[in-house]
Amino acid sequence: MSDKIYIRNLEVFGKHGVLPEENRLGQKFQINAVLYTHTREAGLKDDLTKTIHYGEVSHFMSGFMMEHTFQLIETAAEQMARAVLLRFPAMEKIRLEILKPWAPIGLPLESVSVEIERGWHQAFVAIGSNLGEREDYLEQGLKGLRSCEDCRVEQVSEIIATKPYGVTDQPDFLNGMVKLKTLLSPWELLRELNRIEQQAGRERKVHWGPRTLDLDIIFYDNCVIDTEELTIPHPDMHNRAFVLQPLAELAPYFRHPLLHKTASQMLAEL
Ligand code: ADP
Ligand code: MG
Repeated sequence: MSDKIYIRNLEVFGKHGVLPEENRLGQKFQINAVLYTHTREAGLKDDLTKTIHYGEVSHFMSGFMMEHTFQLIETAAEQMARAVLLRFPAMEKIRLEILKPWAPIGLPLESVSVEIERGWHQAFVAIGSNLGEREDYLEQGLKGLRSCEDCRVEQVSEIIATKPYGVTDQPDFLNGMVKLKTLLSPWELLRELNRIEQQAGRERKVHWGPRTLDLDIIFYDNCVIDTEELTIPHPDMHNRAFVLQPLAELAPYFRHPLLHKTASQMLAEL
């Protein structure tokens, strides 16, 4: 449950547009924003430092619109939503509308606008290695996640050693779980994980075979996704103790969106 802070009709100047004149002369834009956050503590204590300062957000957005030049208001909105979310950590989500009242289309119109909603998502990522310097690979994986600008690692479970699953004549696995917040979509997060795996020297040979680093998305909010490329929740997680044990350590009461069981229930039933 979030509270909302509204910024309405903030007038800003910028040089965004597809036409060269727009990039040269600039024009007026208007911004509407809804900032999703929690204001209860600030409200009870009458303390500005416990909430998001709408003046700072407004100045930040005005500055952002002037410092950059984009062709599209779609891009201005996308980039600005990201920048605001990174700059004001107490903001869970932003709804952002950018209006162009003087859009030069050769017809009278009141305004055009783009409205988007962007925010932080909760993901659980399983991390594993059973080849070579396993601890180092896990460390590389964590470092990769920590250096991803659009991710915030919140918690890392204990690392456990387990016997291999599926193909059994291979070295033991080290497994753990990472709880993170991310601005990336599930598919973007998967691509980022693949990139980190590749940096750690991962070659895709045998499914379930030995690997230097394996990063799997276990949960992404309460999303259910079933495509060729991506399945969330991870389809076999409830049968794998090496997934459930570190998950139950971090989020014992997190409920599987399809099986409707908590992490500790699934672990107990295994
Ligand atoms: P596994 O992790 O199942 O042992 P791989 O790491 O080789 O196997 O993954 C193979 C493919 O699984 C990836 O290229 C990816 O597209 C797909 N995949 C499907 N769902 C997920 C998920 N939730 N997390 C990570 N990869 C996934
Ligand atoms: Mg994998």
